[in-house]
Amino acid sequence: MRPETLRAQLTLWNGAFLFAIVLAFGLGLYGVLARNLYRSTDQKLSAIAEVVAESSVRNFLRPGFTDFARLLEEFFGMPTAGQFIQVLDPSGNVGSRSPNLEARRLKVSPQAYQSAAHGHPMYETVADHPAPMRVLTYPVVVRGRVRNIVQVATSLATVNDTLRHVAWVLAVGIPTLLLAAMAGGWFLSGRSLAPLDSMVAAIHDLDADNLDARLPETGHTLEVRELTRNFNSLLGRLEGAFRRVKEFTADASHELRTPLTVLRGEAEVALLQPRSPEEYQRVLASSLEEIQRMGRIVEDLLLLTRGELGEVPVERSSLSLDQLLEEVAAQTEMLAEAQEVVFTWAGGPPVTVCADPLRLRQLFWNLLGNAVKYTPAGGQVFLSHSVIDGCEVRITVKDTGIGIPPEHLPHIFERFYRVDKHRSRAQGGSGLGLPICQWIVQVHGGRIEVRSVPEAGSSFLVYLPIHPGTGDECAAGTNTTA
Ligand code: ADP
Repeated sequence: MRPETLRAQLTLWNGAFLFAIVLAFGLGLYGVLARNLYRSTDQKLSAIAEVVAESSVRNFLRPGFTDFARLLEEFFGMPTAGQFIQVLDPSGNVGSRSPNLEARRLKVSPQAYQSAAHGHPMYETVADHPAPMRVLTYPVVVRGRVRNIVQVATSLATVNDTLRHVAWVLAVGIPTLLLAAMAGGWFLSGRSLAPLDSMVAAIHDLDADNLDARLPETGHTLEVRELTRNFNSLLGRLEGAFRRVKEFTADASHELRTPLTVLRGEAEVALLQPRSPEEYQRVLASSLEEIQRMGRIVEDLLLLTRGELGEVPVERSSLSLDQLLEEVAAQTEMLAEAQEVVFTWAGGPPVTVCADPLRLRQLFWNLLGNAVKYTPAGGQVFLSHSVIDGCEVRITVKDTGIGIPPEHLPHIFERFYRVDKHRSRAQGGSGLGLPICQWIVQVHGGRIEVRSVPEAGSSFLVYLPIHPGTGDECAAGTNTTA
């Protein structure tokens, strides 16, 4: 079962990793030590066997010779104790042996005898009590013939004792080291993760009312500081989003409350006393106007909200932009004339775009409607388009109207934003036209820009991608992309 806390997981992983390393190290150490001890035992046996073989060749050894201890002491210059030595003749009969072999026998295995008889020395580990013996069976070869067989043996008790001690130290040392390391890991991971605990506590206290709170960036490690910074920046964005939702709700309620107040006021005044049919007709006509106004606001809001959620179908098809602009221009002509504004449609090159004609008409109608609305009588409004770099078309709606002060420019695409609320409302505006324009442009993969000089006029520039195909292949492109 996996532990739940990060601290426990870190400690366990650290422990498991350390255990694997220390175990591999311990086993390696034990293996190397064992090999070296056995090798040095074999080397010792080999050195003694060579001396005894040499002595037997020089006839120092006669059958029945026992004083191997002195022989070896003379040769090595110091006593060598604990070896069992015997010299056999080629048929395997014991000629001479060390005194410690009087009471016991040193067996010659058939394989060792065969090997020596063919002139090859052989090492064996033979079971014995209290410890196994290491035996070297060594042929004495003179002029190509095996003259004697020397056997030297020693007990492996000391070697085995040493190895047992080392194994014991490792068996106790590794778990102790591991426990100490895990305790250290537990403590250190606790210290490193402590800032996360305080972050969790701080996050727990957060709700929509105190989104302005920020976590202190006091973490000792870069990762924790980075996490805190990013979390604070997320809080900032959330706070902004919440504020916008609140503002939007307040704006929407305010926008709907005004026509409602007018409606109620007119109805109340009308009901104060009996009125003539003409008066009722006038009140009803005025009420209808307010109801239509509210209906437009609700429809625009729905379009924007559903558009952002990707729920508004955008039925794209390959269409001629210049023709569409011409149609819109014809309608604008009439509107401009009524407002005593001079409208000029400069025309432009034929351009095909992949777009929803309904939405594009709405876009240009909004921009041209604004241009006429915010241009005093006698002013001018221009509509033109041109191709840029062969891949996009720029449609310009320019007027010589009241313009927009620079401090308002960054906000005019926000919902319900109006430079002059009273003037806009008096002219039937609600501050939703430009946000809708922006949504339409974006959903078609384009962008919209505004340039304006107060009292000199404004230019709205719409950039749309040109449809490269000549056929109708984007006709199936009904989408609901936001
Ligand atoms: P509205 O319904 O009020 O016109 P819009 O979203 O269309 O709402 O426009 C937002 C605001 O931008 C307007 O209230 C107005 O202040 C400003 N605006 C838009 N177009 C123009 C323009 N051509 N000239 C001057 N001001 C403009």
